[in-house]
Amino acid sequence: MNPAHAFETLHLRMLDVGHLRAASAVLDWDQEVNMPSAGAPARGRQLATLNAHAHALFAASETGNLINDALAARDHLGPDRQALLDEIAYDYNRAVRIPETFVRRFSEARSAAYQAWLDARRLSDFLAFLPHLEALVVLNREKAALLGYIDTPYDALLEDYERGMTSAQLKPIFDLLARRQSALAARISESAAAVGEPGWLGQRWDTARQWEFTEQVLRDMGFDFNAGRQDRSAHPFTTNFSIHDVRITTRLTEEDFFSALFSSIHEGGHALYEQGYREEDEGTVLASAPSLGMHESQSRLWENMIGRSLPFWNHYLPYLRKQYPGQLDRVGAEDLFREANRVRTSLIRVEADECTYNLHVILRFELETALIEGRLEAADVPGAWNEKVRQYLGLEVPDDASGCLQDIHWSHGSFGYFPTYALGNLYSAQLLATMEAAIPDLWDQVNEGVFGPCLCWLREHVHRVGRRETAVEILRDATGKEPDTDAFLEYLESKYSALYNL
Ligand code: ZN
Repeated sequence: MNPAHAFETLHLRMLDVGHLRAASAVLDWDQEVNMPSAGAPARGRQLATLNAHAHALFAASETGNLINDALAARDHLGPDRQALLDEIAYDYNRAVRIPETFVRRFSEARSAAYQAWLDARRLSDFLAFLPHLEALVVLNREKAALLGYIDTPYDALLEDYERGMTSAQLKPIFDLLARRQSALAARISESAAAVGEPGWLGQRWDTARQWEFTEQVLRDMGFDFNAGRQDRSAHPFTTNFSIHDVRITTRLTEEDFFSALFSSIHEGGHALYEQGYREEDEGTVLASAPSLGMHESQSRLWENMIGRSLPFWNHYLPYLRKQYPGQLDRVGAEDLFREANRVRTSLIRVEADECTYNLHVILRFELETALIEGRLEAADVPGAWNEKVRQYLGLEVPDDASGCLQDIHWSHGSFGYFPTYALGNLYSAQLLATMEAAIPDLWDQVNEGVFGPCLCWLREHVHRVGRRETAVEILRDATGKEPDTDAFLEYLESKYSALYNL
């Protein structure tokens, strides 16, 4: 085929793949938000058909031929098309290393493991999950061998979530974080300022008012409701079908003042990223994030660094006093700030505060690398887990349901996913430190509820890049630094030293 024509044909084919994937994402969203539970089996079949068509179209040998033809004429393409072609080629080369028979075996093992995990967690019965965990570890080793790696099979798995990152890079970073964050958590728990929760927090908070508050904050952040919407779901998430249709969800509980808000801000941070790609990248793989860690940096920057800051609460306190008449009369912005940042060392990762969150990630990373590298038997996971929880968090694990059975990731066959949460924290702190230097009145603006300068900076340095660069390249261009712990530890230690008089 004529090489110039090859790129155009490939591009159109990839748009079709994108449309099938977007349609499948709509069905997924509907399943979480609207679908009656009896619809689940049929929905599963519909999704399987759509996903199979998307995969077949993408992984077909014709796609490979078009890529090769287009690559032969790569020099004649402009930089944006070259970037797009390279990204399509990268995805294709990874996809075709995994044979169809393996995909089927993996997917069957995963479905069985997920069902077994739901029961095992409910009954706190690790032995019921053990054979599935063993099978998934073996399958992941096989997957790593198919994908190829240099140092350790774990790196091949990590690549799916955090492209270019290796466990050799992560280990020294995580060792330092573990030491400093456990020490900080221990100092906080011994601090005289670590007093019990104030009475006002135990009030009931009207859920309609909570909903209005989340929408107000999302609007203020710059979330475009003409190109997105918020709904309720049991587990908050973000999905998108185009840059002009980005969906987020949150959950509301009357007893919890903060939960819906912080879920909304978190998912709103993800959504601003999805709404912020370049118009001309619409429908292509360039309109996506380079890694989960970079995506998570956006949600955590908005949720933790902005949403849990004193200027944020200074701005919203008068609004909240009107929203909840009589309920916050004796509560100041400092009180809201303090409660939004209360450290409660928990056994459960998803309930963890900023101070201890990375410790949950690090212990999982250490266990899953040991599993994949064959240094740990699946049967020994509960003992190893409990020992690490004792070491890092100073807690005793009473049962496996609140220990090694708590997360869905391994039952989904996802090994290599956890580190992206901690990387998100590190990236967000590095981006924030640079943004603070670039926008000297950043916090005065937040104090007035003005988030535009912050969003503009993120648009320019992160969102609009899309997948043209890896996460590390984006970070390097934006901050001049490689991923490191300095900015995050400084942020954490100064915030908590002030809050807990350390
Ligand atoms: Zn997130």
